Amino acid sequence: MIHAPETMPKVSLISFIADIKSLDHALIERAYEFGAKAHAGQKRKSGDDFIWHAIEVVRILVDLNLYDTVTIASALIHDVIEDTACPLQEIRRNFGDEIAGIVDGLTKIGRMDGYVFRSVQEEQVENYRKLILSMAKDIRVILIKFADRLHNMRTLYALPEGKKQRIARETLDIYAPLAHRFGIALIRWELEDLAFKYLEPEEYHELAKRVDKKRREREKLIEQFTSPLQEAVNEAGIKAVVSGRPKHLYSIYKKMERRSKSFEEIYDLLGLRVLAETVSDCYHVLGIVHTLWTPLHDRFKDYIATPKSNMYQSLHTSVYGPQGQLIEVQIRTGEMHRTAEYGIAAHWRFKEEQRAEKDMDRRMTWLREVLEWQNEAKDPKDFMEFLKIDLFHDEVFVFTPRGKLIKLPSGSTLIDFAFAVHTQIGLHCAGGRIDGRIAPLHTRIKSGQTVEIITNPNTRPSKDWINFVRSSKARSKVRAWIREQEYADSVKLGKEMLERELKRQRRGRVEESRLKEVAEKLNLSGPMEKLYESLGQGHLSPGQVMHQLFPEQPEEKEPKVSTFDRLVDKIRKSSAGIKLQGIGNLMVSYAGCCQPVPGDKVEGYITRGRGITIHRADCLNLLRLSSDSNRRVAIDWEAGGDQNFLVRILVSGNDRKGMLADLTTAIAETGTNIRSAETKSSEFEFSSTFVVEVKDLKQLKRIITDLKRIKGVEKVQRKESFSPEALQSSG
Ligand code: MN
Repeated sequence: MIHAPETMPKVSLISFIADIKSLDHALIERAYEFGAKAHAGQKRKSGDDFIWHAIEVVRILVDLNLYDTVTIASALIHDVIEDTACPLQEIRRNFGDEIAGIVDGLTKIGRMDGYVFRSVQEEQVENYRKLILSMAKDIRVILIKFADRLHNMRTLYALPEGKKQRIARETLDIYAPLAHRFGIALIRWELEDLAFKYLEPEEYHELAKRVDKKRREREKLIEQFTSPLQEAVNEAGIKAVVSGRPKHLYSIYKKMERRSKSFEEIYDLLGLRVLAETVSDCYHVLGIVHTLWTPLHDRFKDYIATPKSNMYQSLHTSVYGPQGQLIEVQIRTGEMHRTAEYGIAAHWRFKEEQRAEKDMDRRMTWLREVLEWQNEAKDPKDFMEFLKIDLFHDEVFVFTPRGKLIKLPSGSTLIDFAFAVHTQIGLHCAGGRIDGRIAPLHTRIKSGQTVEIITNPNTRPSKDWINFVRSSKARSKVRAWIREQEYADSVKLGKEMLERELKRQRRGRVEESRLKEVAEKLNLSGPMEKLYESLGQGHLSPGQVMHQLFPEQPEEKEPKVSTFDRLVDKIRKSSAGIKLQGIGNLMVSYAGCCQPVPGDKVEGYITRGRGITIHRADCLNLLRLSSDSNRRVAIDWEAGGDQNFLVRILVSGNDRKGMLADLTTAIAETGTNIRSAETKSSEFEFSSTFVVEVKDLKQLKRIITDLKRIKGVEKVQRKESFSPEALQSSG
């Protein structure tokens, strides 16, 4: 057989779009010639000529009903810039701005654009960022990208193993969820099943085999439900079609994993679908379903009244069949069904019409949100994290007290809700009410609840909020706040550290211009704050700065403090230590090994990039750390804050009946909260460890005194741990 790559693809291209009258065939032909010429001689790994790939991408777009001239022409040349020497200007000159814009959006950022990436990850993330920005300009970019990825996945078998894994992983992590976001279920399912096949080949084939074996049985079972429902619907005079609902392999696999159930339990869950003509028919059918079979109460969902943010609409209900089997029923109109399968693609072609324009707008809310926070995500890792979280989540629907609907990722907390209402409410939220009942901030909210946020102007976000927020908005706002706060705190801390060092060495004030010079010498150009920030973060030691300021002075080891100076200090009561009050808690942490409380003699240890860790001055770990004396700082710590500190107390002595009760009563009577208690006792002796919350040393001392008064108690002491692990967890 004669191989004729020059003509064969063209024939096949024309054959499947030839009849479509709405297309500008001359332009498409020109794009085809252009692409074929640019890719001439290039082969895909599968052995096909490269242009076949472009044609298959067009075929997928046509299958999806996405065939306007610009889309098809762009798809035919979508790889030209990335994979050939052809410059973008050439495409602009030949095909105009619209097509050039789409092709550019589909092209990865290259080194020739002047980008220097610090890592592979950064390069990848910047490419996603570019893709998202381009699709916001023209949605056809992402539609072509989906078709491109689908064809690449269909031909993945030809690639080497490592590449297969990488592409399949990226498909599952990014493109399939992205397709879901745009509501294109058909593409999502195929991408997921293909990725599943390459990532978990054994599970995939095993599952495929089992599904196939059970198909008959299952079809028979579904038939038992389809017929009575179809009859009842017909009798009621409603035009609707009842059918069994296919499930794709990956969704079965995910369900098995998530609910840790066996194949039988998941697969035997039957699915029915009813396609009706009108919305009111949908509700009518729902009534019929509920009279035929008993509904499971909390499984009814009305996505017609409240569409998902990818525009999905349907009624969902689960009912018990005659033999007690559970059936899931989805009821929707044909139009809704099209949206469910084609998503954004179902409406895109009507974009000239007013109505569709509004639809598109709503559909694009998600994209607009992504665009908004991608500006804030400076770190590529953050951006990736946000993108993944946002792509994957299911949704919950909740209401404000005024009845406004708010959609959030499932697993969201009151904090997410607060940020969704308004950034300022998020930043100052102190608590909330769910359906009228007071609830703490980390409470997860559920669909249908009415949520109210209580704000307090003095409340600020805390670092651990990051651990329980789910929405990207809350996440990026909390991150940004922490970053700002950490910066401000580091600057403040650094400034204090330097002032203290100047005072300690009996130096006067240093002119700002001198400090600027020093900063420049230390490669810290920019605002003065940079120098302080570096000091506060522990990247720079006060000694280094002093050495730059006073180079003539040898680096002194011991502070030369005269008796007179000491006296003056005493009188002025300035111990030149850093005052803990006033330094934000982001830069200060308390060592877990010695558990200091206000009133203890303490010393600070500067941890690179993590601020100061406060140890008790006699902590053995601190002594071990102290080889680097530059990192130790004096600390002034007065009692009086309203922060609580955890302290372990070890109590031991002669055991007797009621001992534990007496101990806990004694602690409680001092107004102290007990976090945990642990007791070991033999026949005569006991030893208990309590973890208590105290405000300061005074309170702690009182607890210890009171415990010592109890009959049988012999020893009461603060329990310390000097293991290296404790040291690490002390940050
Ligand atoms: Mn391609």
